[in-house]
Amino acid sequence: MSSTPYAEVIGDPIAQSKSPLIHKFWLDALGLAGDYRRAHIKADALAAFIDQRRTDPDWRGCNVTIPHKVAVMDLVDDPGNIRGTIGAMNTIVRQRDGSVIGTNTDAAGFYAPLAETDLSGAPVIVVGAGGAARAVLFALARAGVGHVTILNRSPLKAMGLLATFGLKGEVLGLEAQLPPAALLVNSSSLGMAGQPPLDLDLSALPDDAIVYDLVYAPLQTGLLKAAAARGLDTVDGLDMLIGQAALAFELFFGAAPPEGRDEELRALLTA
Ligand code: NAP
Repeated sequence: MSSTPYAEVIGDPIAQSKSPLIHKFWLDALGLAGDYRRAHIKADALAAFIDQRRTDPDWRGCNVTIPHKVAVMDLVDDPGNIRGTIGAMNTIVRQRDGSVIGTNTDAAGFYAPLAETDLSGAPVIVVGAGGAARAVLFALARAGVGHVTILNRSPLKAMGLLATFGLKGEVLGLEAQLPPAALLVNSSSLGMAGQPPLDLDLSALPDDAIVYDLVYAPLQTGLLKAAAARGLDTVDGLDMLIGQAALAFELFFGAAPPEGRDEELRALLTA
């Protein structure tokens, strides 16, 4: 009996996820047999979902989004010690032997657009202290950044993250005057459609600073517009979204996404 391999994205809510568009675009472009779906899974159904899927040989795995990135760590194997490092999983993969492992592709997806930038010893600013901030801070710690300023509504959470990732720095409120920094990253939900704006005075940033917003709906956030108006380099949230998806795609379907198709994909995602 022939069968079609499939992967999916799970979360609550899930209708907003762009992952199916991305993975289906790559499956079509490569002419691979496979499917990528969207599953609305509430927190109390997560364990039963993983148990059911682990017995399905066609299931290659799933991406995990809000609010399951932490809870799912209790339900899968963790050979890469994601629990002890980043502390959140966004990709679950079924192995041929039926075991199910979790990993995190957000950190590498976030870092990919910065790979050519020397951040060693550089001062950085990170807004937010949630799940996305964990992946960002993990990647920045590995890049050897210097002083880290975290701006967050809940200061205690942010202080915990500095300690977790062994970073030297300080925690400020969202209204604080920014210090100079080589890189500013928004990893909070501020600036996202339906959320309050992120209003920062960027005047303290040097002219060669990079401003990176993880928010991708809208793509041109107020923060990125303000950075562009100052002539600063910017990175938008689609770079990370596509980067983390590319790593997951390879784990699910055993092939790298096609090269040279990112502009087409970005147009599809912003249509
Ligand atoms: P999360 O775990 O819920 O964290 C949300 C963060 O935003 C926390 O720091 C929270 O502050 C802050 N926040 C939320 N509402 C706020 C408000 N009204 N006022 C002040 N602060 C507020 O969410 P997440 O998973 O980290 O995601 C954060 C953002 O990153 C989302 O926009 C998401 O779409 C984006 N993201 C993008 C990618 C990508 O591939 N581009 C990947 C992952 C996430 P407190 O700590 O005080 O609660």
